[in-house]
Amino acid sequence: MTELSEIGEFDLISKLTKDFKIQNKSTHKGIGDDAAVLSYTDKVLVSTDMLVEGVHFDLSYVPLKHLGYKAAVSNFSDVYAMNGIAKQITVSLAVSSRFQLEALTELYQGIQLACEQYGVDLIGGDTSSSTKGMVISITVLGEAKQTNVVYRNTAQTNDIVCVTGDLGAAYMGLQLLEREKNIFQAAPEIQPKLEGYDYILERQLKPEARLDVIEMFAELGIKPHAMIDISDGLSSEILHICNQSNKGCKLYEEKIPVAPETIRMAEELNMDPVVAAMNGGEDYELLFTISEPDFQKIKKSADITAIGYIADASAGVDLIAMDGVKVPIVAQGWNTMQQ
Ligand code: ADP
Ligand code: MG
Repeated sequence: MTELSEIGEFDLISKLTKDFKIQNKSTHKGIGDDAAVLSYTDKVLVSTDMLVEGVHFDLSYVPLKHLGYKAAVSNFSDVYAMNGIAKQITVSLAVSSRFQLEALTELYQGIQLACEQYGVDLIGGDTSSSTKGMVISITVLGEAKQTNVVYRNTAQTNDIVCVTGDLGAAYMGLQLLEREKNIFQAAPEIQPKLEGYDYILERQLKPEARLDVIEMFAELGIKPHAMIDISDGLSSEILHICNQSNKGCKLYEEKIPVAPETIRMAEELNMDPVVAAMNGGEDYELLFTISEPDFQKIKKSADITAIGYIADASAGVDLIAMDGVKVPIVAQGWNTMQQ
C-alpha cells in the first residue's frame, strides 16, 4: 500500500490518469497544461455534480471502482437528458490521509471504464487533501445542435409521457445494502446475503445512462418536446417537467415499468414497489414527453413505455392508481399518502 503522503500531487495525478485515452476530435488538449483546450462547432452543454462521502455514498458497501463508474455515468446522464452527447469530464477530488494510492486507482479505474464505454475524455480536474472523508466533483461537457437541445419546460398538451427501462430497482438495491449493513453492524459474524439480488444491486452500484436512446432519437430523426433524467424519482421529475412547462398530466400506476426483481424485493421488505419507482431515484432512466406521431415511431422499442399524457395545467398533476383513484403527485408526498 502506498500512502498519499509518499507521493507528490503531480505524480499522483499522472499515476491515476496515465491509461486514459483521448477519443474525441473536440478534445484538442487534455490533462497536462493549465487548462484543457476544446474545439466545439455546436452548442456546448455543461453540468456539475458533487458527491460527498457519508451524504451521497457509503464506502462500507460501495466498491470504489463502482463509485467512480457511477459518478461519471450519472454526469453523462445529465447531458443525454438534454438530448446531447457527453464528450469530456473534469474530475475534482478531495481525500483524507485515510485513503491510499490503491484506493484512488480503483476509483479512477471505474471512471476510465465509464469513459471508454461512453466515449468521453477525461481532460482535467483538481486534487486536494481533506480533513475527513472523500469528496468527488465531476463536471461534464457535451455537444448538441441548437435545434436538437431538449429542455424541461417545453412539454405540450396531449404529449405522450414516456420512460425508458424500468424504475425503482436502484432504490430497492440500496434498501438491500442498507439492510445487510445493519445486520452486519449488529452481528459481524453474519455474512451479508446478497446472492440472487444481482439485478437490483447492479442498478444501484453500476447504473447505466441512456446514450442508446439519444442515438435512437437521432437515427429516427425525432425529438421529444421535454426531457429529464430520473435521478430523484418519477414524482419529482414529472413535477419539474409539468411545473416548468406550466402543464398538468395524468400518469397511470398500472403502466409504470417495474422489474420483477424490484417487486420481489419490495414484497420482502413489505414496501409498495410503486413507491420505489415514484420516490426512489438513481435510476438514470429518461423521462420524456413526445408528440403522438413521433411516439408511433418509437413505440415498438421494448425499452420505452408510455405511462400517461400531458394535459393543461388546470387538470393538475395526477397519478391514477390501480383502483382508479386519482392521487395528486407531490414530490416525496405520494409515499405518505398511500401508507
Ligand atoms: P494547476 O496547479 O495549474 O491547477 P494541477 O497540478 O492541479 O495544475 O493539475 C495539473 C494537471 O492535472 C491539469 O491538467 C489538471 O487539470 C489535471 N488534474 C489535476 N487533478 C486532477 C484529477 N483529480 N483528475 C484528473 N486530472 C487532474
Ligand atoms: Mg489544480
